[in-house]
Amino acid sequence: MIVSPNIRGFICTTAHPDGCAAHVQQQIDYVKSQPKVENGPKNVLIVGASMGYGMATRIVSAFSAGANTLGVFFEKPGTETRTGTAGWYNTAAFEKAAEAEGLVAKSLNGDAFSHELKKQAIDIITQDMGKIDLVIYSLASPRRTDPDTGEAYRSVLKTTEGTYSNKTLNTDKGEVGEITIGEASQEEIDHTVKVMGGEDWELWIKALAEADVLAQGVKTLAYSYIGPELTWPIYRNGSIGRAKEALEVSCNKLNNFLTENLDGSAFISVKKALVTQSSSAIPVVPLYISILYKIMKAKGIHEKSINQCQRLFAEHLYTDNPTPLDEKGRIRVDDWEMREDVQAEIIEVWEKISTENLTELADFAGYQKAFLRIFGFGLPTVDYTAETDTTTAPASLV
Ligand code: NAD
Repeated sequence: MIVSPNIRGFICTTAHPDGCAAHVQQQIDYVKSQPKVENGPKNVLIVGASMGYGMATRIVSAFSAGANTLGVFFEKPGTETRTGTAGWYNTAAFEKAAEAEGLVAKSLNGDAFSHELKKQAIDIITQDMGKIDLVIYSLASPRRTDPDTGEAYRSVLKTTEGTYSNKTLNTDKGEVGEITIGEASQEEIDHTVKVMGGEDWELWIKALAEADVLAQGVKTLAYSYIGPELTWPIYRNGSIGRAKEALEVSCNKLNNFLTENLDGSAFISVKKALVTQSSSAIPVVPLYISILYKIMKAKGIHEKSINQCQRLFAEHLYTDNPTPLDEKGRIRVDDWEMREDVQAEIIEVWEKISTENLTELADFAGYQKAFLRIFGFGLPTVDYTAETDTTTAPASLV
């Protein structure tokens, strides 16, 4: 099949198998160009492993630390006539490259929130891997079914303190307009917490501990975002922010549990804002990211998910001199985004930005490029006029 992008709002309904492979390879090449992470993890479980931050963490685990990995995700396989999702093709490429280096690379495609998938993960760990010494929780999902009650919950992206209006970017049209976001009801906040809070992370760790597949000294991390005041009404103080607060409560519980039982630890790692399938759906954020990219690139401090994850391993998790945690015990790799000089420039630009000066004041082209790259488009090494095999699949799942 010849595959081209089919963008509908903030999603692209097609993905290019060779393009996704090239995107994964770019990230592997970057990791290999960096000093290896010594004394890193040996067996890593990543929940939400096929895209964005989860895939980048999987790549650093394998290609910098030499770890075996089990990746859990929710993706769609391709057929002869329809493309699969990008995470499916990313994983196919990842597994191939990892296996070429003699690493175990297993994957599970299904609902990470279910008991069944946790059980399948434990079986794979028992049969094919050693005890897990790093568990990464990098899930981003709009819905969750409670595995005990069967009740379905949906998360919302709303404020918690009245309606709020601000500038936003229509990424289809390249137009800056205004958006008004309504206040979430208590029920909507509770549902968002149920989906994106830490309940499922706790269930994963509990299930793994009960099955005795966690190693002594195990670490577990979940990813979060804080961002500048500009985005607080929609993010930090919004319904999603409430879920991230709940994630921190879960982190403390898990840290106590792991310290007591396995000499282990749990952390929240705060990441920088970048273009992913999930972040592109959040109002206001794509405009903020476009400005942020322009400023960080000009200062030579722009990072992609792979740079962030490499830094997480090398400067925080697996070093004798870790960068200090913040006042709440969180690992901050959003430090460059949050630099005073960066944020001061963003505020200045934010006041002035409009459709007319978008390309001058923001890196909208960079935003679009990064968005397309998620789905395997715009990679310089790929011939997009050629036929590509849309049935490409991860070796461990065929
Ligand atoms: P993403 O959309 O790129 O990836 C989400 C992953 O979750 C995919 O692997 C997907 O398959 C998986 N997934 C979704 N639903 C699932 C389910 N039911 N079962 C199994 N897997 C499922 O997301 P991302 O932007 O990399 O976000 C990952 C984490 O990083 C989130 O916690 C997010 O809040 C955090 N984060 C993101 C940003 C950002 O700017 N993108 C910044 C800071 C923190």
